[in-house]
Amino acid sequence: MADKRDYYEVLGVSKNASDSDLKKAFRSLARKHHPDKNPDDSEAEHLFKEVQEAYAVLSNPDQRKQYDMFGHESPGGSPFGPGGFQGVNINLDDLFSGGFESIFSGMFGGGRSTRGRRGNDVLLRHVVSLEQVFEEQDIEISAKLSATCETCDGSGAKSPQDISSCMTCGGQGKIMQQARVGPFVQQMVSDCPDCNGQGKTIKNRCADCRGSGSDLREQTLRITIPKGTEDGLRLRHRGKGEHIQNGQPGDLYIQLEIESHAWFERDGPDLIMALPLGYPEMLLGTEVELPHIDGKPLAIPIPAGSKPSETIIVRGRGMPRRRGRGRGDVTVLLKLHVPPKVNKSMRATLDEMRESFGLPEGDIENAVRREAEDRRN
Ligand SMILES: [Zn+2]
Ligand SMILES: [Zn+2]
Repeated sequence: MADKRDYYEVLGVSKNASDSDLKKAFRSLARKHHPDKNPDDSEAEHLFKEVQEAYAVLSNPDQRKQYDMFGHESPGGSPFGPGGFQGVNINLDDLFSGGFESIFSGMFGGGRSTRGRRGNDVLLRHVVSLEQVFEEQDIEISAKLSATCETCDGSGAKSPQDISSCMTCGGQGKIMQQARVGPFVQQMVSDCPDCNGQGKTIKNRCADCRGSGSDLREQTLRITIPKGTEDGLRLRHRGKGEHIQNGQPGDLYIQLEIESHAWFERDGPDLIMALPLGYPEMLLGTEVELPHIDGKPLAIPIPAGSKPSETIIVRGRGMPRRRGRGRGDVTVLLKLHVPPKVNKSMRATLDEMRESFGLPEGDIENAVRREAEDRRN
């Protein structure tokens, strides 16, 4: 193939031509040399094929990179197999509409083969407490994870003598399919169905992994829990997912799930809680103290004259913000605590209280009206 012309020269573009430059050049040249326009012209047929081959290689990012590095002497030979490029059938109409693109994008066996084989990603759930996500911290977790089988070292075979080259694909893992379309032979490369693209067959399988080359093993992972983590955050560990033969392992995702707290509910960086208080505390005011997630007691001041269903906001004592500095707030919803039973001495006290604090006698209608107006405002 010494007389093979440079692909950039064939298309008449520079080495740093963009994808759309390539497409434009290809379209106009392919139209010019199309067999429909040049019947029985072997020179035009040759040029048409040359243009197609150049575009097929340069429009594929991986192939273009390889061509830029090695030219026509690329390691592993021509991307079109031992037979070289055979040309594909493109309608003249497709060159005007852009319908040719799908033909070339499928030419190297599709994305799967060029990207290589890869194991599945694995999702692992891990429950943490609200206290644990208050500050960034490293923890260790143990889990049964996919790993290369130690018995067969990932080969999947009982012994190395049990591995032989696949007869169907000759150990390549890929097969070439040819179809005659009009005057051209179209070639497609795909994974060998007999060996699933592995290029080898196994006579006696490894008993420990049943030929898969990987097994589940107890492993300890160090993970960093970011401060202010919210429920459902996923941490990614590259290559800790499913291990497969002759391929990249998948990734492991650890999904953090936050245990529900005894009294707090969470709304982003804010914490929300309900606080039951007796009538005297609401009326006279007080200060309540509770143990808090930051290790310091949370003091909630109750002003005199508080009412049930009012809220008190304690600023800056919520969860840390995930980005930036500072913390959210604690919102305290006041609830009236009603004793489940009223005994004799309580009754006497309450009767006395009724005199001073009971329903406004003879003025109920006005009281109801005022309440409704308050509600509306
Ligand atoms: Zn094994
Ligand atoms: Zn095979």
